[in-house]
Amino acid sequence: MKVLVIGGGAREHALCRSLSLDPDVTALHCAPGNAGIAEVAELHAVDALDGAAVAALATELGAELVIVGPEAPLVAGVADAVRAAGIPCFGPSREAAQLEGSKAFAKDVMAGAGVPTARSYVCVTPEEVEEALDAFGAPYVVKDDGLAAGKGVVVTDDLETARAHANACDRVVIEEFLDGPEVSLFAITDGTTVLPLQPAQDFKRALDGDEGPNTGGMGAYSPLPWADPKLVEEVMETVLQPTVDELRRRDTPFSGLLYAGLAITSRGVRVIEFNARFGDPETQVVLARLKTPLAGVLLASANGTLADLEPLRWSEEAAVTVVVASHNYPDTPRTGDPITGLDEVAAQDAPHAYVLHAGTRHEGGAVVSAGGRVLSVTATGSGLAEARERAYAAVARIGLEGSQHRTDIAAKAAAEA
Ligand code: AMP
Repeated sequence: MKVLVIGGGAREHALCRSLSLDPDVTALHCAPGNAGIAEVAELHAVDALDGAAVAALATELGAELVIVGPEAPLVAGVADAVRAAGIPCFGPSREAAQLEGSKAFAKDVMAGAGVPTARSYVCVTPEEVEEALDAFGAPYVVKDDGLAAGKGVVVTDDLETARAHANACDRVVIEEFLDGPEVSLFAITDGTTVLPLQPAQDFKRALDGDEGPNTGGMGAYSPLPWADPKLVEEVMETVLQPTVDELRRRDTPFSGLLYAGLAITSRGVRVIEFNARFGDPETQVVLARLKTPLAGVLLASANGTLADLEPLRWSEEAAVTVVVASHNYPDTPRTGDPITGLDEVAAQDAPHAYVLHAGTRHEGGAVVSAGGRVLSVTATGSGLAEARERAYAAVARIGLEGSQHRTDIAAKAAAEA
């Protein structure tokens, strides 16, 4: 199978790594990719947001499957353009991707499907904002109603901060605060059949102890030793299947990756948000544990044949990923700094630990930083403690001036396991 992956983050590197290990994949291409993906796939300098250009590239390459990684191309209709060219595509239509692209749409679908989520108001005027903030009280949860790469959400006890963020957005969703640990559960669907993957937890805040601003994600681990063994089953019944059914009923069938961001509250499971694609960095740990070759699973989603698939096989091992971010992430990340130690990790830590690239590029003979999140250092082990040790040992070999990473990824779960 000839496969084209769209995107250039650590999630796409994780996808490409798994695809490169899949015996069914005969040729692997990526656009635009990054310095790490270049080691396993042929890169193409095509704008990921340009559906016509992506479809033309896929046609020229004879691609038999296109996988769209990030949300922005999905919301821009890239999957529709690829499908219109007659090529199977993993990823939802522009319309179905509104499940992620518009928080208001997602809330409406959840209401229709009876899916448990935080109570919320969509506000446009400052008066509506005041009323909603007053109705829920602190802690305030204020969300920009559009794509913001996980950074459009403010959770704060400070009324002024909440008000300022709300009034800086055109349309804002203000909602009830959900207490309790968060879980990310991915499911692959073809619009009818839903195949859940293994749950993971990510770390959204920039600093240790869940301090600092929200980011795209600073690390993740899987499995979750503290979670109820029935969690996946429960989320399938109360969240994933009803949502997929509701979208089909509305004539916006959703195929691709349905990502449920969940809060396990004292009153039960609640959806915090949906995403329409693999999450980054959870993908790095979930795919590290998936034993079933990936391409056939994603193709079955694209072709509507998931019901015929054998059950997925999973490794007993645990996986941890630690994100190395550039100086000043998430505010105004500095780029262009050389990265050292990549060869040492490959020589000394593989195959248990490896580096997935996010914002990197080649400059001269060197690999340099090219974005906020630069690397996802991923490791597996017999348990979370071992996976964690291996990941941090590899992180210690990496040199990137001014870089930052959290030191407490999976620490609590590993100690409790
Ligand atoms: P979102 O972009 O909706 O996933 O929000 C980003 C992060 O903000 C989530 O992962 C949570 O940590 C936090 N968050 C969002 N909504 C809520 C809520 N209703 N209650 C508590 N925390 C929330």
